Amino acid sequence: MNLEARTVAAMIHIYCRAHHGAAQDLCADCAGLLAYAQERIFKCPFGIDKPVCSQCTVHCYQPEQRERIKVVMRYAGPRMLWRHPLLAIRHLYRSRYFGGRSK
Ligand SMILES: [Zn+2]
Repeated sequence: MNLEARTVAAMIHIYCRAHHGAAQDLCADCAGLLAYAQERIFKCPFGIDKPVCSQCTVHCYQPEQRERIKVVMRYAGPRMLWRHPLLAIRHLYRSRYFGGRSK
């Protein structure tokens, strides 16, 4: 799995555990969202040099899934610093979370 796929998986796990009470496995909804997000990452036309999705110009997510993943990231993003500091810092650095546009 590439860095972004791992980051997305970790974020969805944090979100699901907090909101849906999942212990180990994701609930059906979140598992579906993760499968969708990873499929988008693997099919991304930019390949391994892709920008992170929040900076991407293609916007390959469907609107409904895009809204869901945004909610997950808004919740899990700050919490990633505690659970997965290395992933989080690399992700934040690449998405310029601290200095850039935060839509
Ligand atoms: Zn869930």
